[in-house]
Amino acid sequence: MSYIDNIRKCVPYTPGEQPQRKVIKLNTNECPYPPSPEVEKVFKSFDTEALRKYPDPVCKDLVHSIAEYYGLKDEEVFVGVGSDDVLSMCFLTFFAGKKPVIFPDITYSFYDVWADVYRIPYEQIPLKEDFSLDPEDYIGRENGGIVIANPNAPTGVLESLDAIERIVKANPDSMVIVDEAYIDFGGETAIPLISKYENVIITRTMSKSRALAGLRVGYAFGNAKAIKYLNDVKFSVNSYTMNMPALAAGKAAIEDDVYFKDITSRVINTREWTKEQLRSLGFTFRDSMTNFVFATSETVVNRDGSMKAVFEGLKEKDIYVRFFDKPILKNYLRISIGTDEEMRAFIDALKPMLP
Ligand SMILES: *Cc1c(COP(=O)(O)O)cnc(C)c1O
Repeated sequence: MSYIDNIRKCVPYTPGEQPQRKVIKLNTNECPYPPSPEVEKVFKSFDTEALRKYPDPVCKDLVHSIAEYYGLKDEEVFVGVGSDDVLSMCFLTFFAGKKPVIFPDITYSFYDVWADVYRIPYEQIPLKEDFSLDPEDYIGRENGGIVIANPNAPTGVLESLDAIERIVKANPDSMVIVDEAYIDFGGETAIPLISKYENVIITRTMSKSRALAGLRVGYAFGNAKAIKYLNDVKFSVNSYTMNMPALAAGKAAIEDDVYFKDITSRVINTREWTKEQLRSLGFTFRDSMTNFVFATSETVVNRDGSMKAVFEGLKEKDIYVRFFDKPILKNYLRISIGTDEEMRAFIDALKPMLP
């Protein structure tokens, strides 16, 4: 006799390392700059006494600020504990059918983990060799839902709004989730589709472009009916997902647009500098529209069989980038964009390791 047969067994997602010492950390796509000074003000003046009570279960103020910023109605916005929580709620809500949910074979590696843990059947559609997505693969194929990260991770590749719209339009019986975690770094958002189609949800995060990975704030846009379905599921799992400091600081972050635009353009400039440097060292990559570059070096791969040795070598110098020990991906490093100084240190450390 054993309880083992009654356990929900799963293979968990492996997050990027979070070393607790001071290192050059280019492995989890965090923002190298601090959050808005308005966020600091929220924490400095926070009324601890208020924590006695439960937070607002409908997160009204934060939802309203987000809706106002994007020109949407409050009923078209959902918030959660980082976009991982938002995406997980979307999987639970919209993928309850029997047909397989489809998403690319190379994409955010949490999608298959959620599908597994919620017992959702899924099929992974191969990307083209250049890591781009062929919209035709998502048209006329039976499915119980679709997930597309745009720009994609870990490849950095951006698909056009036209490609996304074609997929949404061709699948009126499925919810299409567009994960826009990196859209602030240069892509065209699918927000205009919200008013045209009922079957699209867009997810966003404050972790990357708003420098708040530690606060855990994510959100989603969709038509009011879809958002209501999401809230029904959320209230059936945990009514009080968002804590009071996260609600207040998230609101302050969304309202400080000047600061947001400043740090985003700094990251973009540094990204373009990093691309040039990598190119001059013989690296190749698809043009990234995110805050990371997914790059390979043919000469390194020919010498070492993968990028693993370079990844380990950088780590010995206290520079952390992301390496995925999987077919194809093992020939690449995913390098988050840090400050100019951090990227210079990275390039300097990289040079002597190359053939
Ligand atoms: C980072 C990331 C997320 C999760 O972000 P959080 O809001 O920190 O949970 C979701 N999707 C993609 C593609 C990401 O890269």
